[in-house]
Amino acid sequence: VGKVRHDQRALEALARADGLTGLFNRRAFEAALEVECARARRSRSPLSVAYLDIDHFKRINSQAGHAAGDQVLRQLALAIGEAIRAHVDGGFRLGGDEFALLLPSSTKEQTEVVVARIRSFCTDRDPLWAVGAIDISAGVVEFDPDETPQELLRRSDAAMYLQKESRRPSRV
Ligand code: GH3
Ligand code: MG
Repeated sequence: VGKVRHDQRALEALARADGLTGLFNRRAFEAALEVECARARRSRSPLSVAYLDIDHFKRINSQAGHAAGDQVLRQLALAIGEAIRAHVDGGFRLGGDEFALLLPSSTKEQTEVVVARIRSFCTDRDPLWAVGAIDISAGVVEFDPDETPQELLRRSDAAMYLQKESRRPSRV
């Protein structure tokens, strides 16, 4: 019975993990988001989400190759793991080049500091980040107890998109 339980837990862990990066996957994010929103509402403590998306990731793949693209994803995941608090915050790969952070008891400002730390880990280690050839757009939002987890996620995605658009040359 002990072995079966152990196997069961291992399977459950696999179902929540992203194979490429070792971060948790979208399914795990959705579950954690529900739990943390309920907790934040109950405890009246802050909760923040950061939505991260690599800029022009398709170009990285097509110019440097898919394997190099994979390496960029792994490197970003590593920086995320180092920048967040173990056992408190969550780092997730939602799919493709999209990542999310879930930070309980953190305000928007505190979460922006974490995102800045992720960027600086990457720029310290990779010349392509250092010269701005690789970057992320980030949307950071703080939970409003009156909204649903889905609304919180949608706001973070919209904030990310806004940052992405604002940094692009306008097509007039
Ligand atoms: P934007 O600047 O607007 O974010 O554009 P983008 O090119 O980064 O974004 P888009 O979402 O259009 O492209 C994401 C690309 O990521 C498309 C897909 O080929 C690639 N991709 C998805 N999963 C993987 C993966 O596991 N490894 C690699 N190397 N590429 C992946
Ligand atoms: Mg992208």
